[in-house]
Amino acid sequence: MWATGEQIVLREVWHGRLWSARPVRVVRDDADLVALHLPVGAAWMRACGADGRRLALPVGDWRLRDIGWPVDCLRLHVPGAHHDVLVFREPGGERVRHWYVNLQTPLQRTGLGFDYTDHVLDAVVSADRTTWRWEDEDELAEALARGLLSAERAAFLREEGLRAIERLRSSRPPYDQSWERWRPDPSWPVPSLPPGWDVP
Ligand code: MG
Repeated sequence: MWATGEQIVLREVWHGRLWSARPVRVVRDDADLVALHLPVGAAWMRACGADGRRLALPVGDWRLRDIGWPVDCLRLHVPGAHHDVLVFREPGGERVRHWYVNLQTPLQRTGLGFDYTDHVLDAVVSADRTTWRWEDEDELAEALARGLLSAERAAFLREEGLRAIERLRSSRPPYDQSWERWRPDPSWPVPSLPPGWDVP
């Protein structure tokens, strides 16, 4: 388990190849919940194509480029779940901008932090948790067409997403109201990537 305040690396991996890496600060790490903070201004090494722009799907060649993390974000993961719930805040503000359900593989512990594979489909939930919509359904359709994900996996992801959205909308644990009020320790510097972050 990582200690609160420790700086670790959160990475996305596709079939053994790095897709992204972000330095994050540990808020909580126990049997019930992993909570990670991504402050504005941290590095975001992200897969980009030959033209330097972000790739949507892991197809062809890519290289990682620091495109900069633009928004204050708290990331909540129930160990073993195939989703994370993200709390995005207005830049520099106290207000929640929206919630985000990211469909993915469960977080895997590594020597540096956690790895996972993003599974394309997402859902955006309003700040007050009353309304929501799917996001990146077009990318999911393309991932299916390219064989990156199976139809069975996509159906599972939708069910997983709907369960997470319902839990979030009804403020059931671990998504209780206290996360709206949570703020990072002001003494925490912006985390940075340690040596070895790019070794799969
Ligand atoms: Mg996603």
